[in-house]
Amino acid sequence: MSDNCLFCKIAAGDIPAKIVFEDDRAIAFEDISPQAPLHVLVVPRKHIATLNDLQPEDTELAGHLVQVAAKIAADRGHDNSGYRTVFNCNADGGQTVFHIHLHLLAGRSLTWPPG
Ligand code: 5GP
Ligand code: ZN
Repeated sequence: MSDNCLFCKIAAGDIPAKIVFEDDRAIAFEDISPQAPLHVLVVPRKHIATLNDLQPEDTELAGHLVQVAAKIAADRGHDNSGYRTVFNCNADGGQTVFHIHLHLLAGRSLTWPPG
């Protein structure tokens, strides 16, 4: 846990969130400002500030986050219609919370390229 990290505090249960999945490695909760009918953030319990900070030993964890997102999408019935997963990184990527998180967006047709 990193001091003053919002997502570490949510993972620890110190700040409330609408949790949709959790296990020993990850937690997923609804985004406070949803950009699609389903907008969930899949977050590792381990504090990793940005994708630039991923280490070789995090490879399995990163894959787990993707699989958690796919499972939530399927559980909500979006597997065939489709969905988007996004990791934003640093300023140009639009990252505002510096604890990596995989956005899962579904429930509407999403445009490409993103803004
Ligand atoms: P980023 O911009 O870093 O890729 O994504 C951060 C996301 O966290 C944003 O979509 C934002 O709406 C969400 N967020 C920020 N603060 C909170 C919070 O306190 N609770 C929840 N559930 N989501 C938050
Ligand atoms: Zn953190």
